[in-house]
Amino acid sequence: MFEILTGFFYNDIGIDLGTMNTLVYVKGKGIKLNEPSVVAVQADGNNKVIAVGSEAKRMLGSNPGTITAARPMRNGGILDPGITQKMLRSFISSVSNPFCIMQPRVVVAVPSQVTVIERQAVIDAVRNAGARDVRLVEEPFAAAIGAGLPVTEPTANMIVDIGGGTAEIAIISLGGIVHCTSERFAGDSMDEAIAAYMKQQYNLSIGELTAEKVKKQIGSALPFKDIGDESLGFEEKIMDVSGLKMDAHGNNMPCTQTISSEEVRKALMGPLEHIQEGIARTLAQCRPELAGALTHNGITFTGGGSMLPGLSRLFGNHFKIIVHSDPEPLFAVTKGLAKIIENTNLFDSPQARLVGVTC
Ligand code: ADP
Ligand code: MG
Repeated sequence: MFEILTGFFYNDIGIDLGTMNTLVYVKGKGIKLNEPSVVAVQADGNNKVIAVGSEAKRMLGSNPGTITAARPMRNGGILDPGITQKMLRSFISSVSNPFCIMQPRVVVAVPSQVTVIERQAVIDAVRNAGARDVRLVEEPFAAAIGAGLPVTEPTANMIVDIGGGTAEIAIISLGGIVHCTSERFAGDSMDEAIAAYMKQQYNLSIGELTAEKVKKQIGSALPFKDIGDESLGFEEKIMDVSGLKMDAHGNNMPCTQTISSEEVRKALMGPLEHIQEGIARTLAQCRPELAGALTHNGITFTGGGSMLPGLSRLFGNHFKIIVHSDPEPLFAVTKGLAKIIENTNLFDSPQARLVGVTC
């Protein structure tokens, strides 16, 4: 009864506005939305929204001429503020309590190094989507809270959140981010690297959804025998990949090519090296007093990109440091937002416009 009554007044929402997936947490209710960050619009210049989320994702790459399906968030920034706003409006209204007399208060997780202009674009998009108050939280800070790291304690932890557009790498201590790097190399770059390999090696053009499927099905950061995970098996794998190949007459023809997990690993080396360099750069900034705690606590990996088999072990071996893989990497940021909404008085504090920022 109390919940029904408070529901009339309060409608606090946490949004993990990911480049690949958007998750929405509603205070007291749990995760109410988990959809791909994709919007399909009419391609006649009016940009009328036809579909959002999974329905729109099905149209990616196979649009009829009259519809354009696109991801408005790319590379960790807002590529298209107008479409992002339409997507947010649709997501917010689908979780909002229709009987609530107040507009929702919203906290959004944003990549740590988005520019001031991009931050303002997120705030404007959420406001225009119907929010009464908007607060921003640094994504790696939310991920660290969601992963259960002791963020307020006088110790140091490194969090690496590998999403679609960016890898957020941060050292967290005493309730804030002390050093951070945002690499624009993450899940999307892995897909692009696989597509580039297929083009270069076999002259086969494949779509981004196919490249992602290859990564998820046979991709790995280490040989399977070295990963040592029985559920993945210890043998290398193969997969048939379909795309378009140009024939001798210059016509694109459908074609299927079998590729091996060794080849995919070779293709993934480039993006993985960029993430590794980002981790190295962030570790190098670490103050000597925090180094001991960091060695002891190790690196925690979150985000969907960290699900690439062998990824955490590869970096653990390279940096000779303990690594932890979050058991629910796709939910870490949202779980962090949930804890912030449920346990802090974020919205009552006029100062807390941006939580977790120090670098
Ligand atoms: P974002 O926060 O940017 O929306 P997510 O944390 O949701 O990103 O992660 C999305 C990324 O995770 C995508 O690039 C997707 O391909 C990748 N991903 C999901 N599952 C796997 C998997 N099993 N192996 C490798 N990558 C994965
Ligand atoms: Mg994310």
